[in-house]
Amino acid sequence: MELLERSLVDVADAVRKGQVSALDLAEAAIARIERDDTGSHLDFDPARTRAMARAVDEKRARGQALGALAGVPLGLKDVLCTKDARTTCASKILDGYRPPYDATAVARLRAADAVFTGKLNMDEFAMGSSNENSAYGVVKNPWDPTRVPGGSSGGSAAAVAAGLALGTLGTDTGGSIRQPAALCGVVGVKPTYGRVSRYGLVAFASSLDQIGTFAADVRGAARLLEVIAGHDPRDSTSVARPIDEWVAACGTDVAGLRLGVPREYFEEGLDADVRASIGAAIESLRGLGCTIVPVEMPHTKYAVATYYVVATAECSSNLARFDGVRYATRVDSKDLESMYGETRDRGFGAEVKRRILLGTYVLSAGYYDAYYSKAQKVRTLIRRDFDRAFEQVDAIVGPTSPSVAWPLGAKVADPLQMYLADVYTLPASLAGLPGVSVPAQPGASGLPIGLQIVTPAWSEARMFSLAHAFEQVSPAKGLRPRRA
Ligand code: GLN
Repeated sequence: MELLERSLVDVADAVRKGQVSALDLAEAAIARIERDDTGSHLDFDPARTRAMARAVDEKRARGQALGALAGVPLGLKDVLCTKDARTTCASKILDGYRPPYDATAVARLRAADAVFTGKLNMDEFAMGSSNENSAYGVVKNPWDPTRVPGGSSGGSAAAVAAGLALGTLGTDTGGSIRQPAALCGVVGVKPTYGRVSRYGLVAFASSLDQIGTFAADVRGAARLLEVIAGHDPRDSTSVARPIDEWVAACGTDVAGLRLGVPREYFEEGLDADVRASIGAAIESLRGLGCTIVPVEMPHTKYAVATYYVVATAECSSNLARFDGVRYATRVDSKDLESMYGETRDRGFGAEVKRRILLGTYVLSAGYYDAYYSKAQKVRTLIRRDFDRAFEQVDAIVGPTSPSVAWPLGAKVADPLQMYLADVYTLPASLAGLPGVSVPAQPGASGLPIGLQIVTPAWSEARMFSLAHAFEQVSPAKGLRPRRA
């Protein structure tokens, strides 16, 4: 079997045993990325990738033990700081920016002997659901190049689907890992808020942002998360909890688990082929011995509005730092005030500006109570929907996205339609809960569909166990897009 068709965990273990060389893996990835036309890589430097791979092989040759990701070609969403590659957040305002340090998650991958393929395309500052908000071009869905890959981690999802890397990191603020994973037919994991350090992650909405993982299979995504999770003194919201053995949780029995199916997730707005696929997925979980329990999540209908108040408020504050003084792009002008204005006007794209304006508005003195504080209260109600559901069930299951990947350009003129694509991923984000998208039976058009599994905070082990159990019986198992 071709190296990049093998599973991430098996490849890492083979490199550790000396059965596969990191350089051979790197060459396989480089050859594919050179032929690639998805647009997933923003920064690709074969010399850097080869040097990392050689260092891993040399370490083994010296008799040193290799880490848990030995030789594994991995791509990084371009919102993560990397000391040896530029970090642009797919924005013109950070064109050519080179951070002087690595994000903690990136440093942990290096320490585990991973090899980086490069930096991956995304929606500008992680704002979007289709990757069309990148200042550096769209990403094409590997299953159908006329369609979007989802977003905002579109490059991360497409790179795994296209077999350019065995795993990737993304970030999920409101669905940006789970939704593109669903649309590209790969596994995408957003851990519990606080699991992974956000140090070195360029902030979008700090109370929601989490780094997470993509791989072709559940075990691969679990192995990656084991490496990047854990407390970091540099992020006060990262939590000192023991890291469960998540790869080991894959394969544990799920019989007897109670799975909640929210009535509200199957109302209007859900496409027929997604409804059928997720219905079949739930039946196969029943077949594995799980008990299916209808639950009510009555505040689901407020999730989109709540998220777009909270997230825009936080982004308007976080993005204030891009002022032409400290980072990358500066547009010189007649005085300081107009330098700030012109830098931000030329540096930010339309969606980022829309969000800064919205966020500034909802935080402004006259409207704070009407919007921002109201949204915080509704956020609590959404969290309580989950608390109440988890009194009866062990996990919530449903669709990740209401539709399959849509044609490029179809929603760019209609931000509300774009925002509605996140209706099933936003609630878990607002509640800070872990969620995974696992490929389910494809739609009528053969396009991928994802089953979302959400578990209580810090219950990633149960989430991986369920995801892995479903993966084994899913009709999508082993399906891959046609390779270039
Ligand atoms: N699509 C959502 C948005 O546009 C979520 C983005 C994300 O999770 N980073 O904000």
